[in-house]
Amino acid sequence: MSHRQTVIDLRSDTVTRPTPGMRAAMATADVGDDVFGEDPTVRRLEERVAELLGKEAALFVPSGTMSNQICIKAHTQPGDELICDVNSHIYNYEAGGPAVLSGVMCRTIEGDCGVFDVADLEGLIRPENDHLVRTRLVCLENTHNRGGGKIFPLEKIRAIASWAHRHGLLVHLDGARLWNASIATGVPLRDWAEHCDSVSVCFSKGLGAPVGSALAGTKDFVKRARKIRKLFGGGMRQAGVLAAAALYALEHHFHRLAEDHHHAQMLAQAVRNSPHLLLHPSVIETNILYADVEPGWSTAPDFARALAQHGVLVLPVSPQRFRMVTHLDVSHAQVEQAAEILEQTARTLALRAA
Ligand SMILES: *Cc1c(COP(=O)(O)O)cnc(C)c1O
Repeated sequence: MSHRQTVIDLRSDTVTRPTPGMRAAMATADVGDDVFGEDPTVRRLEERVAELLGKEAALFVPSGTMSNQICIKAHTQPGDELICDVNSHIYNYEAGGPAVLSGVMCRTIEGDCGVFDVADLEGLIRPENDHLVRTRLVCLENTHNRGGGKIFPLEKIRAIASWAHRHGLLVHLDGARLWNASIATGVPLRDWAEHCDSVSVCFSKGLGAPVGSALAGTKDFVKRARKIRKLFGGGMRQAGVLAAAALYALEHHFHRLAEDHHHAQMLAQAVRNSPHLLLHPSVIETNILYADVEPGWSTAPDFARALAQHGVLVLPVSPQRFRMVTHLDVSHAQVEQAAEILEQTARTLALRAA
């Protein structure tokens, strides 16, 4: 459809469609029944992820949400508490999973775009007392989705994990976009993962696979996670067709994330050049941008509608804020075009408002 050729879809990096090369890899994948542990391609992917993350083992799962929720359940008992940033995916976008699936309370802290320090955690561990929940787990998110793709600095992760472990807590890393953090900083994936007891990564975001995430940790942890995956209904049979897409993505789409980051800088500049729009946060580190529309001038849904008339899709996330995400399916030329349309639309509306 011509619709597909002309629309520049910046709503999310989940909108990518498998490339011809990826589809070919899927079509020719060796498969078996993975619930029996007999899918060679899934095994190959799990070994590759474990190796990249420097962990003993990994598990292929249908989604990032399931991956996080399996990890939370594997680390906790009902009545435990986890600590996470108030804007984290786990707390905001997983349908109350910790409460519903694990009987776990969330204690939120106010990070800076999702990033916090050991000092923010001190004093939050509940003492032993018949009245109190047991503090069990700290969850980190890198890069941070609602934080505008912000990178959780490695030194902070190291300090938080060392503090948590000293106090008998476990650390889970929601690394749906850990790929982006690694490419943007040059810090290998395993260096981030080293400090965390479990790590979750997504293949269906910037890497461009149609489906799939993975979690990683010790052999014992992954054994327990496998059973919970079955409990949650996430055991898949000939999943090798999906694992093949993820393996292809790791090989062909990991290093190109640098392009997405460059494209995000181009869009950031367009926002800076636009009247009545403000980047939030103002510094863009990876592939996600949020922009605030000046109240009284227009609204995010109205501005998004105006852009959509010119074939640019953005995602309103609140009355005054919208999101743009760069990815595999938006070319350099399309980003240039989108940047121009963004500036022009803002100027035209500004003139009309004047
Ligand atoms: C997308 C995302 C997830 C997982 O989402 P699914 O849609 O379930 O795959 C988890 N954490 C973060 C930070 C994300 O951006």
